[in-house]
Amino acid sequence: MEAGQADRTELAKEQFAGLFGKKPSVTVQVPGRVNLIGDHTDYNDGFALPMAINRYISVAGAPSSGGGVRVVSETVSGDAILNVDTPMKHPSGWERYAAGLLHLARAAFGELPDFKAVVTSSIPKGAGLSSSAAFAVALVGMAEHLTGISLDPISKARLCQKAEHIYAGVPCGIMDQLAIINGCRDHAILLDCRNCKSVHVPIPTDEVSLLVIDSGVERALSDGVYAVRRKICEQAADCLGVGALRDLSLETLNSQSDRLDDEQNRRARHVVTENERVQAFAALARESDWINAGILMRESHVSLRDDFEVSVPELDLLADEAEAIGTSGGVYGCRMTGGGLGGCVIALVKPGAEKRISAKLANRFDYAFGRLPTVHHVRGIE
Ligand code: ADP
Ligand code: MG
Repeated sequence: MEAGQADRTELAKEQFAGLFGKKPSVTVQVPGRVNLIGDHTDYNDGFALPMAINRYISVAGAPSSGGGVRVVSETVSGDAILNVDTPMKHPSGWERYAAGLLHLARAAFGELPDFKAVVTSSIPKGAGLSSSAAFAVALVGMAEHLTGISLDPISKARLCQKAEHIYAGVPCGIMDQLAIINGCRDHAILLDCRNCKSVHVPIPTDEVSLLVIDSGVERALSDGVYAVRRKICEQAADCLGVGALRDLSLETLNSQSDRLDDEQNRRARHVVTENERVQAFAALARESDWINAGILMRESHVSLRDDFEVSVPELDLLADEAEAIGTSGGVYGCRMTGGGLGGCVIALVKPGAEKRISAKLANRFDYAFGRLPTVHHVRGIE
């Protein structure tokens, strides 16, 4: 049973009171996100369609006189005094990321008081639901409350993104942070990652349900594959004389394919076709055409698997079994979601069919891999 937003925040408050013997003065709740379609497009200045979901990181905190910044997180079994002056003194890990984020926040705000905080989370860590961005946005939110200074949404997203680059070692795009900051109930956001503009796209709960199925394969995006993919995309754009792969149509790419090697061609083809799929999906969602939207999800999975090569057998099995169930069995579409190399698939299913589909997919997964995946029936934020 997932704890809801209120429960999770209550837990953070209780833990704070238990640890520090007083009530917290500030609480912040920040959702995770799932990407419906559009992966590895954000750092190519392209399009994505993420949705903030009802899984949250909560932070309860209060300023303290002296003692530095102390953060306690049950999720990582962590309790640390953060070295905000010199974040790199922390060996890698969440402490460096949190310290680095607050280092950047202090530079942006010009001040940051000492404080204590407790973090609780219902966003599984490392599963592709962006606990990393939610954690950062939540800590910046805490810093905003404590200083009384607010950042505009895009500056806040950029600050969090920068922290993830420098201090977590993940050269991520800006999709996650913006999806979390701009999320709204029952809507995904169609995000243009070039100018950070977004428009809301309705995902009505009475028409479609979202199942996020965690393969349990832990991704390690900082281990280099993500950075290599990103570099190849940039090289391909350079070779073709465009600012980013976003600037290419499939026709132009195909007509100039001899200027790229095979790997660059395949990576670029994924990005270019994925951008087209994202925009087409948003248009179909507006017409409640979930059948055709689901077909685009399948195409996206195949493209990420074959052209971008960031799937793994566990994700392929879930996507293939969902495809086999098909619309007659209640599945509109299914694809890996997030950076890949582990993590989750997302399935768009008919309301009422969630349990049956979850059980079937879990059963097939168990048969193939000898263990059960974790199924989350998620909704938009409350
Ligand atoms: P995800 O797909 O969940 O974003 P990442 O590997 O990108 O996975 O990010 C996970 C990292 O985010 C953790 O290693 C840690 O640094 C940070 N993080 C996420 N949630 C928490 C939390 N509740 N407490 C402390 N750190 C967290
Ligand atoms: Mg992340």
